[in-house]
Amino acid sequence: MQWRGRRQSSNIEDRRSGRAGKVGGVSIFSLILALIVWKVFGISPETTLGVTQTITQNTQTAQAPANETADQAESREFVATILADTEDVWTPIFQKLGGTYQQPKLVMFSGAVQSACGSASSASGPFYCPADQKIYLDTSFFKAMRTQMGITGERNGTELSRQDQAADFAQAYVIAHEVGHHVQTLLGISGQVRQAQAQASQAAANNLSVRMELQADCFAGLWARHNHERTQFLQKGDIEEALDAAEKIGDDYLQHQARGHTVPDSFTHGTSEQRQRWFYRGFESGDIQQCDTFATRQI
Ligand SMILES: [Zn+2]
Repeated sequence: MQWRGRRQSSNIEDRRSGRAGKVGGVSIFSLILALIVWKVFGISPETTLGVTQTITQNTQTAQAPANETADQAESREFVATILADTEDVWTPIFQKLGGTYQQPKLVMFSGAVQSACGSASSASGPFYCPADQKIYLDTSFFKAMRTQMGITGERNGTELSRQDQAADFAQAYVIAHEVGHHVQTLLGISGQVRQAQAQASQAAANNLSVRMELQADCFAGLWARHNHERTQFLQKGDIEEALDAAEKIGDDYLQHQARGHTVPDSFTHGTSEQRQRWFYRGFESGDIQQCDTFATRQI
């Protein structure tokens, strides 16, 4: 995937600074815990955040932290570039729909973080909080994607930088998926779903969650298509990389790995096959109408 040299978003809140060295070890430890929790319970960290808390004001913004390492800088530049790519794709789509795209903020953190949806740690994995319209990202999750889940971007015979080795398109897909939840919030879909879930049985509520997640996957695919038309950023193997990631973060795969069997009613993110199919549907069509996961009976 080609990512260098494009515009970087200024909507990054970097909350990693000052603690990076100290929290480094803890962060990796809680990440392993996160993956265990994730695998054992088969639920995404995204959905484990329920309690509303007061937002802790944090005034740090896009400036590079003073003690940032070269790796951390590259990681920040990568995230800021992908976020800018999502802004540049969704803005004209909203214009066509007669609306305005309000850009979300993306908080990079290490260790622990406060959001309007509650406090979270690295164990939470990446998530979007509708109450403050921010995406929360612990970049050590990316490291876990390749070390724990074996999602890699390595290709034969090419010299790749550290960031490029790190399954960069799979990472972009994760960011685009979270931005997809922001799009759902702006379009009023999230609110409607939460309302419907309040009166639904547990199984029906889970089914609605799955549809939400699959739509965010479809939006991620749609973004990839439009971004490629603008920037030609995709390279051979990238789509397979995203599909591989979608497979490895599917509920059935994670449950199967954890328990040896699956319990479909407890799925909240969709099976590997569903996640791949909806991502690809968005990618192939580039059409937001094709991402209506609520209109179809068979997801
Ligand atoms: Zn999600």
